Amino acid sequence: MTYTLSIERKPTHLHVVVTGENTRSNVLSYMEDVMRECELTDCWYVLLEERLEGPRLGTMDVFDIASQRGRPLGSSGIKGKSQPGHGWSATIPFWPVFVLAALSPMVWLLQWWSSRRVRFERVSQGKCSTCGYDLRATPERCPECGTIATQHVRAT
Ligand SMILES: [Zn+2]
Repeated sequence: MTYTLSIERKPTHLHVVVTGENTRSNVLSYMEDVMRECELTDCWYVLLEERLEGPRLGTMDVFDIASQRGRPLGSSGIKGKSQPGHGWSATIPFWPVFVLAALSPMVWLLQWWSSRRVRFERVSQGKCSTCGYDLRATPERCPECGTIATQHVRAT
């Protein structure tokens, strides 16, 4: 195995941090580990922090992996029903994992974008980009947090 998995039990969810190489076999096997932990703790909400190196797997790859994992579970007949269309219900526990894995780059992008916007707004209002302190009296350096302002235009 070329990945490391750390699972922290929170009151409402499992916080999973995975680091290592981003390969199909790694993703498959850490998801197995997460599933096992879910089963052990009976906790199906997973906050997944993926810090894998290498090219990102395509969404369809992750979907493949999730449905591969779902199939044997479904055929084991958890609900004891053999009605057609019931097999997929076994894959539901995986959806939080799958959705979060797909969303994490988006969340990251949103955070980056909003922090950039806040900084830009602060600077344009003559405030410190780090803490928002009013820098009109001391445009070179923030007296509050010590940030040296490089983007301020001195108002004369
Ligand atoms: Zn400051």
